[in-house]
Amino acid sequence: MKFKTITSPKHKSIALVAHDNMKASLISWCLQYENKLVNHNLYATGTTGALIEKQTSLDIQKLISGPLGGDQQIGALITEEKIDMLIFFWDPLEAQPHDPDVKALLRLAAVWNIPVACNHATADFIINSSLFDSHFDKTIPDYQNYLESRK
Ligand code: PGA
Repeated sequence: MKFKTITSPKHKSIALVAHDNMKASLISWCLQYENKLVNHNLYATGTTGALIEKQTSLDIQKLISGPLGGDQQIGALITEEKIDMLIFFWDPLEAQPHDPDVKALLRLAAVWNIPVACNHATADFIINSSLFDSHFDKTIPDYQNYLESRK
């Protein structure tokens, strides 16, 4: 696979997901950084998004609930280059019925080279990075080149 460099925008599309035991932690992170998050386009799985909207002043584009396909919807958006960052507080201490979807989402985030935070500490690092509110260059799979090479 060949790769190409693209510029991730200043105004980012950020996906927010938290498993049930992690929702309080993600909500407190959203409250802490509300003034920064408000400048970006926010997506979330259904229940996570509804709770963030209820407890903050943030507007969220809510997808379907994770176990019903929301993680896969976010994965699909990543492949379409419509998500620039994933904040995914998955639960390391409890089995999830949709574990295959969780793995698939993390895999696609790695394939498309988007920044991912799986816990509060990493999310703090990402949001306080100078890159958070600026453009940055990154490499992604060059799908056009792949198609050409298959002709
Ligand atoms: P939820 O989904 O926000 O609808 O709870 C999160 C998940 O479990 O993936």
